[in-house]
Amino acid sequence: TKKHKVMVVGSGNWGTTMAKIAAENTKANPNLFEPDVRMWVYEEEVTLPKESKLYDGDSEKKHKLSEVINKAHENVKYLPGVTLPDNVIAEPSIKEAVKDATILIFVLPHQFIAKSCDQIKGHILPFARGISCTKGVDVSESGVQLFSESIGAKLGIYCGALSGANIASEIAQGKYSETTVAYDPPPMDSRQPSRQGSPTQSPSASTVELVNPHMEHTEHRSAKLSPLPIDFPPLSHENIKKLFHRPYFHVRMVSDVAGVSLGGALKNIVALAAGFVDGLGWGDNAKAAVMRVGLLEEVKFGEKFFSESVQARTFTEESCGVADIITSCSGGRNFRCAKMSIERGVSINEIEETELNGQKLQGTSTAYEVNSFLKSQGMENEFPLFTAVYNILEGKTKPEEIPDIIEPKD
Ligand code: NAD
Ligand code: 13P
Ligand code: CA
Repeated sequence: TKKHKVMVVGSGNWGTTMAKIAAENTKANPNLFEPDVRMWVYEEEVTLPKESKLYDGDSEKKHKLSEVINKAHENVKYLPGVTLPDNVIAEPSIKEAVKDATILIFVLPHQFIAKSCDQIKGHILPFARGISCTKGVDVSESGVQLFSESIGAKLGIYCGALSGANIASEIAQGKYSETTVAYDPPPMDSRQPSRQGSPTQSPSASTVELVNPHMEHTEHRSAKLSPLPIDFPPLSHENIKKLFHRPYFHVRMVSDVAGVSLGGALKNIVALAAGFVDGLGWGDNAKAAVMRVGLLEEVKFGEKFFSESVQARTFTEESCGVADIITSCSGGRNFRCAKMSIERGVSINEIEETELNGQKLQGTSTAYEVNSFLKSQGMENEFPLFTAVYNILEGKTKPEEIPDIIEPKD
């Protein structure tokens, strides 16, 4: 039988970490996966740190990042100090990187997803499957979509989501963490009867109309999916878990793709609020208050706009919900940059430019995108914390006003 070919779209701090995890697992499960994991690198020139194996005494000399990764097995820019398995293969051409892959792991900052999907459309296997590890929501004139949905709709494939309390650098060092994977496989992929009780799809059919349960609230009510050929191992919950679970990275599988995706996206707004109050020197109680209200607004957002598929318990019981709020408000980049911006009295965009060495914040654009969606629904007042973060970024509200703003008015 054939084996799955896995690739990663993205090579930032988390993208490189996911490639490391996947490559360890493809090696450990040779009956399911081809060993090599290609990782698409958005090419750039980097200088080498003195610690790099490739450093030749010239600290000014420019090197292509993809070549450095393939020679030294280290992403010196986005994940310095971590040795990658030699079956992670950096590839600067996105079309080359996706070629023949049956599993695409999307780990780009959310602002780059649309363009990257446009570039690979028509170049992927029709029966490929995706997992989105991106934290953000896709807001457009037609409303709010999950990235798993927009990736799935754009490429005509099924796409699940992975999200959790996952600070990349800790996981890359093999420190214990949990994560949540939402993957509701098309019944034909797991070769089991669908949960609705309809008979297993015939593998000989060229395409099958299939309702993706988490897509029901969008116009993409049904997607035409190509069935996974019978000679590939099934992509059941069990086999998807084998691609991500490590002794230090514990995966819990769920079906609530919307809950998992929204937890990861909305906590970035909460982390900014936590950074703002901590930046004022207000301490841990203030931060906890913001986190409590943030969790409630996450659940409310899910229940209002993704009611067909969201389950509140995904937010309260899984790593992608409350646990991600906690870790992100402790050591995440959004939290740290928001805090610095208050302490230094400079804009958070400036802090992102000067402090993150090319890494990207997701919370600032998510705060704007969520606000434009809430405005379009006339619901800004129902999400006072999300709205306050937007207004603080706009300079219309001071962080000192947060306690009054989140206090219930009735
Ligand atoms: P990052 O912020 O470390 O790096 C930015 C990446 O964007 C780099 O790989 C860079 O090459 C790439 N890039 C820059 N310009 C680009 C362009 N025009 N087109 C395509 N790519 C471009 O990235 P990351 O940490 O891997 O974040 C990716 C996603 O993963 C985000 O949504 C983030 O919220 C999520 N995430 C991050 C962490 C973490 O701890 N870093 C943990 C969980 C989830
Ligand atoms: P930051 O992007 O704020 O660093 O958050 C990382 C993360 O998603 C932790 O789960
Ligand atoms: Ca602390």
